[in-house]
Amino acid sequence: MREKPRFVEVALPLPLFQNFTYAVEEGLANPVVVGSRVVVPLRNGKEIGVCVGVSDVSPLKRKPKAVLESPDAEPAVSRSLLELCKWMSDYYIVPLGVALRTALPAALTGAEDPHPTRKTQRVVRIGVEIPSLLQRDKVFARSPQQRAVFELIESLGNRTTAEQLSSQLEFSPSVLKSLEKRGLIVSEEEEVERDPFSSRGGISATRLNPTPAQQHAIDTMSSAEKGEVFLLHGITGSGKTLVYIELLRRIVDERGQTAIVLVPEIALTPQTVDRFRAAFGDRIAVLHSALSEGERYDAWLALKRGEKRIVVGARSAVFAPLENLGAIIVDEEHESSYKQGETPRYHAREVAIVRAKNEGAITLLGSATPSLESWANATSGKFRLLTLPERVGGGRLPKVEVIDLRKIATDYSGMAEGGIDYGTVIREPLHDALVECMDHGEQSILLLNRRGYSSFIQCIDCGAVATCPNCSITLTHHRNPERLICHYCLHKEDPRPDCARCGGRNLKQRGLGTQQVERLLSERFPSARIARMDVDTTSGKWAHTRILDRVAAGEVDILLGTQMIAKGLDFPNVTLVGVVDADVGINLPDFRASERCFQLLSQVSGRAGRGEKGGRVLIQTRIPSHHAVRYAVSHDYVSFVRDEMGGRVDPPYPPNVRLANIVFSGVIEDSTARLAIHAGEWLRELITTRAGDEVTVVGPAPCPIERIKSRWRWHVLLKTEHPAEMTRVSRYFMERFEIPSTAQLRVTLDRDPVALL
Ligand code: ADP
Ligand code: ZN
Repeated sequence: MREKPRFVEVALPLPLFQNFTYAVEEGLANPVVVGSRVVVPLRNGKEIGVCVGVSDVSPLKRKPKAVLESPDAEPAVSRSLLELCKWMSDYYIVPLGVALRTALPAALTGAEDPHPTRKTQRVVRIGVEIPSLLQRDKVFARSPQQRAVFELIESLGNRTTAEQLSSQLEFSPSVLKSLEKRGLIVSEEEEVERDPFSSRGGISATRLNPTPAQQHAIDTMSSAEKGEVFLLHGITGSGKTLVYIELLRRIVDERGQTAIVLVPEIALTPQTVDRFRAAFGDRIAVLHSALSEGERYDAWLALKRGEKRIVVGARSAVFAPLENLGAIIVDEEHESSYKQGETPRYHAREVAIVRAKNEGAITLLGSATPSLESWANATSGKFRLLTLPERVGGGRLPKVEVIDLRKIATDYSGMAEGGIDYGTVIREPLHDALVECMDHGEQSILLLNRRGYSSFIQCIDCGAVATCPNCSITLTHHRNPERLICHYCLHKEDPRPDCARCGGRNLKQRGLGTQQVERLLSERFPSARIARMDVDTTSGKWAHTRILDRVAAGEVDILLGTQMIAKGLDFPNVTLVGVVDADVGINLPDFRASERCFQLLSQVSGRAGRGEKGGRVLIQTRIPSHHAVRYAVSHDYVSFVRDEMGGRVDPPYPPNVRLANIVFSGVIEDSTARLAIHAGEWLRELITTRAGDEVTVVGPAPCPIERIKSRWRWHVLLKTEHPAEMTRVSRYFMERFEIPSTAQLRVTLDRDPVALL
């Protein structure tokens, strides 16, 4: 029998590119093997790490400290997950311990109790009698606070919790009591809601017969080689979900393997989840952000024990502890939410491909509008392309028409009291289409990818715009409650009656947000049932699902919202899609701005005409000849890609080149700039002496958003066609470049960034 190892290498979640050696002594609860979690002493405290190596000799001169606890009877991290984390650590230039912490459920890496007890909460709902907009002035004449609270509940989908109300608006508890007494709201104590995804059914489980195109895709993948990557380019409504499900039947049911299904954001895709649930019932674990840590941990255990064989979840589900993996499916692979916004800045699509290759599984990337990266890989033969060129059941893509906003002069401004005109916001053809749609008892979807009431407030006298004190961002005007809010740092302030710069009193609201469109629509169509879906109406648990369920049940005539409403929805009674302003975001100084715009317009258009009644799409824009708009109108993905790819050649941008964005930030502008300038010189020197000219350094320059959360920001961009060189240079830089300990200076490296703002 081998003697027990006496020393272990431990990866800890610290910002240091090294592992730590500890001694293993007698008396621990469990043996320490590679993959086991260990509790170790660190400075004056303790830290949870993962054992990544064992040995009989210590590399240290001094005697290592001893492991304090070994809580895992079975190692929490499998060999293959450890291998994946090592890849992440190398590729994204993060310490291994940081990668491992990301790959494990929080309950296993933090100190928190994984099983918090369920609580009750106070739920408030709008009462039976909803005063119309006209009655309101009278009803709330002497109680503006009651009105504010009432309208906040309304904007949150007529139902919310007292806790959430008070997080958004300050008011005394007596306000709720008075509203309740007047019968305007109902309030009661309820048990904290259970996970609605655990019990949702609803969709009939009748099995559909795949179309020939679907069948071809399924058959091709069923006989694929281990590690192959497929790109399923299927137009909206072509039945990609059915392909996923039938593929899983083969892999999970026939071969007894396991599978991971990634979706961009689970709250937005209850229908997709329902379909998987209908097909696989209890064998699915659904991981979503609203689960408590304990619930996540339970799901993780069920997967690890093999009790569940399929996991559906967002980004982090790619780390699910499944053995014998057969496939990873990445639905809507172009979505930027697959990229984590903080360290480690991994892209779940890339991690999925690496994991599947390591474990001999296949990867299936699906989208109607694939990312340019994936398209380039499919064209070069790295991925295999599968196409679903038609809608199922002979359905056709909706006719898309453009309303040219330049033809009628527009002024989206209005006096602070909202003098803006409905007719300039919803132009006649769109208005007529809405009326017709409602007359036929059909539903419509309106997209405006900007939340809030108006996008900023400007002084007419001096031109000053209200901006955030912490960020170089204009404040967005919100109603219910009336606030100016920074969408980056969430700074809130009350609107001022005068200009902060010149004291002038002629303030104008500029730009249009969803709140304002909602108000204009409800004034224009007092009896229409309008639901608004954006970050502000969906902050409560399950709020998304509740809104979408109302649409599915036919209780909503117009669904208005931001990009949230563009994804995956499949409502046959939606016959009209209107885009209030297609140009939001197109002028952002980011190389992906056009791609995002095209994807959003194509995706939202794809929500129309999914039933027998067909559908139409109306897009209001000032740039009808822009390729992002033009090819969304003609449903021509391939031509869009051709044009867009051409625009990324000189200067080169992905997929023609690989990028790493190094961001320098600090609380003093000058120190931040100097650090970035120094880093630029350092990198150029390094590259000329060591790497030849395979990596190009661009910048330094201030970031497009120069300041966020009181930190100034500069960046340097690395470009190369050689991924290995990128790894080498980035790693050398992150390990060796010294950051002075002044001005809270910080450096982050974002490899394959999805945005450069
Ligand atoms: P996509 O994700 O490609 O936009 P979906 O997967 O949402 O498309 O499918 C669109 C609709 O077509 C869904 O209502 C789905 O149930 C239906 N559908 C898919 N495949 C078939 C089929 N082979 N026969 C009949 N209906 C189908
Ligand atoms: Zn801010």
